Amino acid sequence: MIKKINANELKKYVNEEIEYSGFVDTIRDKKWVQFVILRDETGIVQMTIEKSEEKNREMVDLISNLTLESTVKVKCKVVENEQVKLNGIELIPSEIIVTSRRDGELPFNFNDLDNVNLDTRLDNRFIDLRNAKNMKIFMIQSSLVQYMREYLYNNNFMEIHTPKFIGAASESGSEVFEVKYFDRKAYLAQSPQFYKQMAMASGMNRVFEVAPCFRAENSNTSRHATEFMSFDVEFSYINSYQDVMNMESELLAYAFNKLKDKWGSEIKEIFNQELIVPTLPFPQMKLKDVYQELEERYGYKVPESEKNDLTTEAEKLVYRLAKDKFNHEFMFITDYPAEKRGFYHMRDENGVLQGFDLIWRGVEITSGAQREHRYSNLSKNAKEKGLGEDVKFYLEFFKYGCPPHGGFAIGIDRITMLLLNIPTIKESMFLFRGPNRLTP
Ligand code: ATP
Repeated sequence: MIKKINANELKKYVNEEIEYSGFVDTIRDKKWVQFVILRDETGIVQMTIEKSEEKNREMVDLISNLTLESTVKVKCKVVENEQVKLNGIELIPSEIIVTSRRDGELPFNFNDLDNVNLDTRLDNRFIDLRNAKNMKIFMIQSSLVQYMREYLYNNNFMEIHTPKFIGAASESGSEVFEVKYFDRKAYLAQSPQFYKQMAMASGMNRVFEVAPCFRAENSNTSRHATEFMSFDVEFSYINSYQDVMNMESELLAYAFNKLKDKWGSEIKEIFNQELIVPTLPFPQMKLKDVYQELEERYGYKVPESEKNDLTTEAEKLVYRLAKDKFNHEFMFITDYPAEKRGFYHMRDENGVLQGFDLIWRGVEITSGAQREHRYSNLSKNAKEKGLGEDVKFYLEFFKYGCPPHGGFAIGIDRITMLLLNIPTIKESMFLFRGPNRLTP
């Protein structure tokens, strides 16, 4: 195995000869000694070179001529030294190899981003991410997804990979990206919904996928991107959408608990956010009761035309309501009218949708539902929505036996943004894609 020793694990190597690689973060060239701060994604470490020692002459010259942000590979001894402020250890090198040299001026100082325009930062994301706080966002996001996956693997789920090119703009038409596909048109998948359900019809029983979704929405909000990472889950043999909500609550509680152990104190220190592990079960309310209570408690009156969905302002107030009424940060909203939702969601005999949204910290992070698995009902719902040929292939999935099932999708970029109190989704994605951004 090719092992790379990181800055945060050097303590384990005290008195050992090792190889360390990183960026040159800072050089303090003193009269008798050079202090070189080296950096990797986990932190920084001091390398100390005594100028008076003859054997160090070449290294001293090399450092004197080295530009910051170059990268080096160092053969060195890890030494304990109480006087070193950085973790009480230093690297004493015997050989330094410059593995790449920084040429030219950096586009901005990534240690001081307050005065740098966000677009400039995103244009130069490879520099922007050298900022220690920005780097942390993605280390934490990686752990979050790891723990979410872990929960599902522990519960007999399998990970699948569904195509992103699709032949028909099926789900909701208007928000789909069209692409040239040889001599015909193809579309980019808005969600893996149909294929997750195909997996249920195939007998896969429990599946998930972590993959991009594409939405041609020309919306410039702090929480929408045209391409985002969706954590999609679907599973069979459920009794109702309550099972789906339970599964999601348990998954989030598990992942947050693990995340708190690993990153809780850094989330507090660096992002000034308390990571609260949610208690089970999560509270839930019906949409109409939410509106009634928002009016009674906070004087919020929903415009008649928007009553069938949760408005952005109501989403914010739901966070307040969840805390005031249930002492919880999450809230499931149920009983949406069916017209607002996909034809594939199950409805009860009164037309009430057997699905939910999950609101966390004032923003929707999930939609989920029990799906309609009965061929005749599904065909009828599709017809009512005016969907014909385009969904024919999908309807076929349900003709030959398909267990009752349901699932949900969590927006990874959104949940990261809320977890770390980041002002916009542009910064909680590795690379943002929006109506006006396709680069780098
Ligand atoms: P919204 O109403 O916020 O636009 P939606 O109802 O279209 O979202 P769904 O299709 O239900 O969203 O998608 C499930 C989840 O995927 C959402 O709860 C959200 O976390 C995430 N998501 C949806 N659209 C976007 C987007 N454009 N950018 C980032 N994340 C998104």
